Amino acid sequence: MKRCALVTGGSRGIGAATALRLAAKGYDVAITYRSQRLAAEAVAAEVERLGRRAVVLQVDLADPARTREGVREAADRLGGLHALVNNAGYVQRVPWEEISLEDWERMHTVTLTAAFVAAQVAAPYMIEAGFGRIVNVSSLRALTGSAHGAHYAAAKAGLLGLTKSLAAALAPHGITVNAVCPGFTATDMNREALERRGKEIAAQIPLGRAAEPEEVAAVIAFLCSDEASYITGETISVNGGIRMD
Ligand code: NAP
Repeated sequence: MKRCALVTGGSRGIGAATALRLAAKGYDVAITYRSQRLAAEAVAAEVERLGRRAVVLQVDLADPARTREGVREAADRLGGLHALVNNAGYVQRVPWEEISLEDWERMHTVTLTAAFVAAQVAAPYMIEAGFGRIVNVSSLRALTGSAHGAHYAAAKAGLLGLTKSLAAALAPHGITVNAVCPGFTATDMNREALERRGKEIAAQIPLGRAAEPEEVAAVIAFLCSDEASYITGETISVNGGIRMD
């Protein structure tokens, strides 16, 4: 059966690794990026080398109307949508009292509103196909909070509530909705922190190191597979044991 997936923020890091993992599992893949077009095109070329179709879309998730349009475009160009990975995101290290309302709103729009809007557009395609998987990429910070990123932690925690709500609403259609909470992962997002205090960070992690993006992507791809058919509304941590619930 033909399978099509959309991965937001597929140009780099966890999203790029997820796009490749899904392609290896037989998905045609659309990826979105915000500014790194060349990186996105390189990922698309890798997807095609794996024998799958690739679609690249520029979508700034800070604009909900463009998010809506981008998901529709992905589904139309791929010829359907069976999996949606709401992965794109960014961090901003700011003490909570210095977070401006603009920063707060932008963070929530990119992280939470975009996932909601994307799911709203994607779900009818999944219902029509009789198969659907939605994976929201949240964060360790949704579970621990963040003294220097209250807006990030709050938006990522919101994703967990959205995940459970959509899981309940879409279960009658056989669509599963789950969240993944990565811990420290070796991507551009925290390259600087890992370079500056990599040893200190590794010492806090029972497995003694940051994750590779592929290790997070493997869990996301599993949740998008047939094998994960009875898992829904779950939050799965991929954090090397730094927080055990
Ligand atoms: P990354 O390497 O920095 O990549 C971020 C991706 O999101 C890029 O594809 C980027 O596009 C896209 N993006 C950023 N802002 C966007 C916007 N406004 N509109 C559309 N796309 C946007 O990050 P990553 O580490 O792979 O993170 C992926 C997800 O995992 C994020 O949601 C992040 O919060 C979460 N996470 C990461 C870690 C970690 O340690 N790395 C830990 C916990 C959770 P461009 O390439 O065009 O800029």
